[in-house]
Amino acid sequence: MSSDEENKLITEAKNILAELPKLLGKKAESVEKELESLFARAESGESIKRPLRSLLRQYEETRKWMEKRVPLPTNNDKSYSPLAGDPDLSEMPLTVYKCPNNHIQRFPRVLSNPPTCQTCELLMTKQ
Ligand SMILES: [Zn+2]
Repeated sequence: MSSDEENKLITEAKNILAELPKLLGKKAESVEKELESLFARAESGESIKRPLRSLLRQYEETRKWMEKRVPLPTNNDKSYSPLAGDPDLSEMPLTVYKCPNNHIQRFPRVLSNPPTCQTCELLMTKQ
C-alpha cells in the first residue's frame, strides 16, 4: 500500500467529481456526497483507498473512468510482485526418478529420455 498510489487515486477522484453529473446523471448526487465524506476521512488521516475504489466500482461509468486513470495493480507491476525475476527453486515442481536399486533423483521437469542413475548407471523410471 503506497501512499503515492492513494494520493493519485484521491486526486483523480476529485477530478471525477466535476464529471459525475455527466457520467451518472441523477445518480451523481449521492456519489458526490459519498466522495466528499471519503475525502473528509482521508484528511483526518484515514486510508480511503479501498472504500473509494469500491464506491467508484459501483457504477460502470465511474469504474471505466477510474480504470483508465488509476489502473488496478497487476502481477506485471514489479512493485507488487517482489519475487518477480527471483524464482524460488523450492517452489518448482520436482519429478522423481528411481532406479531398480531404489536410488532416487529429482528433476525440475519430466525428462524426454529417462535418466541413468548416478550411482549404478541403470535406467531410472519416473515415479
Ligand atoms: Zn541406482
